Amino acid sequence: MTVEITLNDGNTIPQLGFGLFKVDPDETQRVVEQALEVGYRHFDDAKIYGNEEGLGRAIAASGIPREELFITTKLWRDDQGRDKPAAAIDASLERLGLDHVDLYLIHWPHPGDGLANDTWLAFEELKAAGKARSIGVSNFRIEDLEGIAKVSATAPAVNQVELHPRFQQTELRAYQEPRGIRTEAWGPLGQGKYEVAELPGLVRVAEAHGVSPQQAILRWHLQEGRIVFPKSSHPERIRENFDVFGFELTDDEMNVLRGLDDGTRVSTDPASW
Ligand code: NAD
Repeated sequence: MTVEITLNDGNTIPQLGFGLFKVDPDETQRVVEQALEVGYRHFDDAKIYGNEEGLGRAIAASGIPREELFITTKLWRDDQGRDKPAAAIDASLERLGLDHVDLYLIHWPHPGDGLANDTWLAFEELKAAGKARSIGVSNFRIEDLEGIAKVSATAPAVNQVELHPRFQQTELRAYQEPRGIRTEAWGPLGQGKYEVAELPGLVRVAEAHGVSPQQAILRWHLQEGRIVFPKSSHPERIRENFDVFGFELTDDEMNVLRGLDDGTRVSTDPASW
């Protein structure tokens, strides 16, 4: 079972999905088929992950009606600008074997390139043409979101950013959520770059519900209203990460997780890239 979240354009997205970063292209079809079998219907991909074909093959083989799936992909840096996104999305659709994606994201703002606003204007046209049902951004800072607001009346449906217990993006969320921009948390488990079981109090919270620390973290994201798509290539973890609807964290337990932010970013800072 999963919950649907309504975006600012009226479309809905399954709140829990499956992430495809670092899923080996040769294994992608198998991994996605496994995830479909478990019940995932939302897949988060990107041109740069190099595995859109495998996702497309798994979708085609599944026989699951297209409208029951939610597929996201992302535009890479070299396709930014006013003219290039049209060809970029067509190439992604070709690899995916689809005629539209459900969500298309500008992968990074690259503030030094100065092309994000023009790219956004091109994205509005892709939505109007039906190539992407919803459009959004990723790794945008407040100033990048403000740049878009200056040139367009369309607010991004989502901003997909690094967000996990040690890096909770409080200021960014406070800016974007009242403006109808939903928060998608990438690296929701810290990308496995720190030992989550060592986070103070987390194991106690998990044990109180008979779940793993990772399941407790995913549950915390969901109860905070965020969209998440953990990645794993292991059948047991793929299953475990979807099994997060049978328990609920108390307010005190939510506060234990909220208190873990120590400003530790585990990946790239969008300001410097
Ligand atoms: P994640 O936080 O989902 O961590 C994945 C790693 O955590 C796995 O490789 C594994 O080592 C570990 N793990 C997963 N489930 C586990 C479990 N149940 N028990 C123990 N360990 C477990 O990190 P991610 O994959 O980087 O992020 C999720 C998705 O977010 C990506 O797959 C991708 O779709 C998206 N993403 C987007 C951006 C962006 O710039 N927009 C960047 C990174 C990731």
